[in-house]
Amino acid sequence: MGPSRIRPAQMDALADASELGTSHRQSPVKSRVASIREGLRELFSLPPSYEIALGNGGATAFWAIATSCLVETRAKAAVFGEFGAKFADDISAAPWASVDVVKAPPGELATVEDNAATADAYAYTQNETSTGVVSPLYRGAPSPALTLVDATSIAGASVVDWDLVDAYYFSPQKCFGSEGGLWISVLSPDALERAQRLVADTNRFVPAILNLDEAVKASRVDQTLNTPAIATLILFDEQIKWMLDNGGLSAMEKRARAGANLIHEWAETRPFASLFVADPALRSPVTTTVDLAPEIDVYDLARTLRDVGIVDIEGYRKLGRNQLRIASFPSVETSDIGSLLACVDWMVDQATSQLSL
Ligand SMILES: *Cc1c(COP(=O)(O)O)cnc(C)c1O
Repeated sequence: MGPSRIRPAQMDALADASELGTSHRQSPVKSRVASIREGLRELFSLPPSYEIALGNGGATAFWAIATSCLVETRAKAAVFGEFGAKFADDISAAPWASVDVVKAPPGELATVEDNAATADAYAYTQNETSTGVVSPLYRGAPSPALTLVDATSIAGASVVDWDLVDAYYFSPQKCFGSEGGLWISVLSPDALERAQRLVADTNRFVPAILNLDEAVKASRVDQTLNTPAIATLILFDEQIKWMLDNGGLSAMEKRARAGANLIHEWAETRPFASLFVADPALRSPVTTTVDLAPEIDVYDLARTLRDVGIVDIEGYRKLGRNQLRIASFPSVETSDIGSLLACVDWMVDQATSQLSL
């Protein structure tokens, strides 16, 4: 589910861009980074005290960064799918930290809310891409405990109440229809202070590439610590502008929901399909998971569709279900989702008429 729809206008902008192949220390690339940071600030309606940092390595790198620079000694993490589990594994492997894991089976939601802080950092995934479960945004515990939210697959399609989060991080290859390799994190004053304090702690070894305080400093001057993929920056910047020109975050949220609703209506009226997430309140607006009846092999179906250029609709492999997973990121036209569902209907119809021969 890394893949997303890249709009043709983004590709045109990439072809026209003069900064490809140039130094990221010079003004053309720095202006791109500035434009991304300003655009995100506007798109997210960020309070002035929150800062946007970015660096190389994607959300997966940010798990290591957060483990090194935001978790003090004790974390509490919600695990209700593969992505949440990966971050919890990183924290538990760090010699300075322990993690209290709250688990829920795939298709359900685990939460880590505490009245009194039992941990110094709380972690959860806003949209568990592996299962199609969406979590409400909430604070794990009051300040100074930090709330770290993996928003990789939903940032850009969800209006955020910034009082609830301290690090809201994502990669740009999902809702932002860009390429991978970059992490972006929106940081609260508490998170900025925590990172500064922990990297200054001489008892804690933080390699330069994981140093969040250095990443913040580089971001403030529109740079990244080391060389970024410039194409990723260009596609990302174009998408932020497109989102702003088309109604901003609440409009993007509506676009995504319209696509998800279409898939819901379809699945609920097909005898061979059923929505994997039972609780309607937990169904993701951006990644919908649909179980298929056993006689329809999702991998056969996906292979045939791949041959005609319709790609990446299989479920998350490790989940091991006969499942379709369909993205309704803001760039995906709802009418395209309608066409995809019509293709699936047609193929299921062909398959079942052959079965009954
Ligand atoms: C895709 C995804 C990731 C991994 O992102 P990378 O850019 O590949 O590191 C992490 N978390 C969630 C929720 C995701 O959907």
